[in-house]
Amino acid sequence: MKLSLATRIFLGYAVVLVTFGAVSLFSVTELHRNRLEIRLVSQGYLQLSQDAAELEALHNNQKKDTERLFDQNSVETRRALIRLTRLYFPPHMAQRLGTARARAREVLSFAPSGEVPFVRGLDTRFGELAHQYEAYGRAAEAVYAVLAADAPDHVALARTMGDLSQVESTISRELSVLRTTLENRIRERVDGAEERERRTGLAIITLSVMAIGVGLGATAWSARTLRPVRTLIEGVSRIARGDYNAQLGVRGDDEVAVLAREFDQMAHSLQTREAQIKAQAEALMRAEQLAAVGRISAQIVHEVRNPLSSIGLNVELLQDALAEARFPADAGSEARDLLAAVTGEVDRLTEVTEQYLRMARPPRPDLEPEDITQVLDGVLEFTREELARAGVEVVREFTPDTPRVLADEGQLRQVFLNLLRNSREAMPEGGRLRVATLPRERDVEVTVQDTGGGMTAEVRRHLFEPFFTTKEGGTGLGLAVSQQILQAHGGSLSCQSIPGQGTTFVLRLPRA
Ligand code: ADP
Ligand code: MG
Repeated sequence: MKLSLATRIFLGYAVVLVTFGAVSLFSVTELHRNRLEIRLVSQGYLQLSQDAAELEALHNNQKKDTERLFDQNSVETRRALIRLTRLYFPPHMAQRLGTARARAREVLSFAPSGEVPFVRGLDTRFGELAHQYEAYGRAAEAVYAVLAADAPDHVALARTMGDLSQVESTISRELSVLRTTLENRIRERVDGAEERERRTGLAIITLSVMAIGVGLGATAWSARTLRPVRTLIEGVSRIARGDYNAQLGVRGDDEVAVLAREFDQMAHSLQTREAQIKAQAEALMRAEQLAAVGRISAQIVHEVRNPLSSIGLNVELLQDALAEARFPADAGSEARDLLAAVTGEVDRLTEVTEQYLRMARPPRPDLEPEDITQVLDGVLEFTREELARAGVEVVREFTPDTPRVLADEGQLRQVFLNLLRNSREAMPEGGRLRVATLPRERDVEVTVQDTGGGMTAEVRRHLFEPFFTTKEGGTGLGLAVSQQILQAHGGSLSCQSIPGQGTTFVLRLPRA
């Protein structure tokens, strides 16, 4: 199931809230139960027990007052006391009993259901007491009737007194049973309440510890869920410091993981962009160098070329003159050798100035559809002698029916001559030169591969810079000019090389 970050954090805290809520609810319920219990005991059973005690005291008083009647010899006093007793005890007793029953019914209204039968039992007992007290009243009246006479009949007195004391003891027993029952009940309830309070306290502590555990768990979970955010921040600050290699690699499918992946993508794009910008800057620098070279070259060519061609012309004239002159045998050949050397140097200097000139004012290519295999065949034929003498074996791998390319034939020959010459110079002990063509979707690829000494990474880096050369007497212009020509054609020239194994130049030209 996929849950968003917000949902997960919300769920974590919802669990914590529910747990704490449950603990609070439990505590409140237990408190309420305890309050009911206290009310039952303090406003119920304690009061009822007090009522029972008062009834008992009242009954005992009446008993004593009745006994006291026997000690009175005067009939008048007895009659007065009987009147008093009648006036005082029955209404009081009835009122007390009524109060007790009313209280029992009141307790019924708030007693927990488990206590209802007991309270009903109490009510019944008070009711029965009322009945018994009525019987007691009748028995007492009988005794009063005998005692109110001027000369009490002893036989009647003994009989009525016997009846009275029977009822009396029943009531006393009943009252004391009632009181003990209530006292026992109170003790039970208080003990029960204490025990329950102890258990409730323990339960609340346990539940609270659990709730705290759940809270800590939810916090840890949130922290774990939010941890990738820190990784993200670190990554962003690394990017800010210019370290585009930063890849976060956060797994998962929540928002942070998606963000982290987007971030990785962005870092990658930035890295690519930076590489592009660097390459562009290098190309720009090379172009500026070429422009500077151009200006200087134009100046040098202007100063050197004309004197150089007149030197060449004069040397030729001198050679002609020498051919007709007479010398002692040895001197003549020595002079001819010297002049040949001068011609060689003049030719070399002319070639160099030519290259400078091409560099200075690269001629706009005159693009026409050309058969590239024909151009390659021509150049290879032209250099056959030279390559054979250097011990280089040429392998041609031309794809049949290679499509024509858009090129300036003269400039193209110039490029191939440069590449072939470089390869030959890289294989002083001889080797193998493979020249291949391969048509592609939009252009044609030409590969020039040699088995020469190859080049180091350092040389590879500066290869196409003008004037970069590792050769004594090299100009360092061949590859710079060749690349310039190919760029003007809308093509490209690139190089792969393994030191000690050889070099491969790959050239691409747009198809006609
Ligand atoms: P030059 O030939 O005058 O040195 P280039 O621009 O033609 O200038 O070449 C520049 C440098 O590139 C060479 O000096 C050489 O070190 C290196 N180079 C070019 N082609 C090859 C090759 N086929 N094998 C090894 N190194 C090469
Ligand atoms: Mg060269």
